[in-house]
Amino acid sequence: MKGKLKVNLHLTQACNYHCRHCFAMFPEPRDLSPERWKDIISDLAESGLVSAINFAGGEPVFCRGFPEIVSFAHDKGFLLSIITNGSLLRNEKLFPRELFPMISMFGFSIDSLNYDTLRRIGRYDSRGNILGRQGFIDTVRLIRECSPSASIKINTVVSKLNWNERLVDIEEEVPVSRWKFLKMKVFETNGFSNRDLAVTESEFESFVRNNRRRYGETVVESTMERSYLIIDNAGNLLDNRGDSYTIIGNLLEEPFGEHLSRFSLDDREYSRRYAEAK
Ligand code: SF4
Repeated sequence: MKGKLKVNLHLTQACNYHCRHCFAMFPEPRDLSPERWKDIISDLAESGLVSAINFAGGEPVFCRGFPEIVSFAHDKGFLLSIITNGSLLRNEKLFPRELFPMISMFGFSIDSLNYDTLRRIGRYDSRGNILGRQGFIDTVRLIRECSPSASIKINTVVSKLNWNERLVDIEEEVPVSRWKFLKMKVFETNGFSNRDLAVTESEFESFVRNNRRRYGETVVESTMERSYLIIDNAGNLLDNRGDSYTIIGNLLEEPFGEHLSRFSLDDREYSRRYAEAK
């Protein structure tokens, strides 16, 4: 697997939404500067272990210097992807058009297409705006115009608030190459807890059954533990086992390869998760 790893740079915790299940609650509040992110990306390139970078958050476009960070990683030759709530990709100031062709996969976090459910989850901005069905369709249309070969992926977190909904009919209008169903991770830190939103195994299975797809690949994940390389907004490699994070080390202090040797990656689960990055 060496040289084929994909790391997730959670550039910022900032987001215009406030989902109740959000796990972007990292130990340190301040984000790194663009220069420090470039140092980390250079280190990842020099390690020879990483071929792909996924930008995540929070909402990654809120990271200071986001366009220059993406361009830098692109120039280093990484395969790039993004996980976004999608609400700001049509905002040229936050997401300049020239970034689209640099990113080969756009992953949308879409947990519902129902306005009331989205409100209950917290997927709305300070003005009450949501990314509804049409907003998603228009955003994908823009991606297709700017970057015809980019693939579209959706991640859906299944919780008590949406487990009985059916979402997959949207792909009659938008081609989705990969759809991931994730069982909501229980997360408790600094007085925050989402335990009341946890679904049972049978509720999760019911969601999966009810969302059988006619096209594309479906990935069902009941855990992300030991199969997801998270680098948080302060440059820490995190271990996400259990109900909170453990810092393995900071990439500004030691090279990525050193930290990775202390991380117990589940090779089989990791390969399954990132089959698309090869
Ligand atoms: S859209 Fe994503 S990053 Fe933003 S609050 Fe929701 S889960 Fe967290």
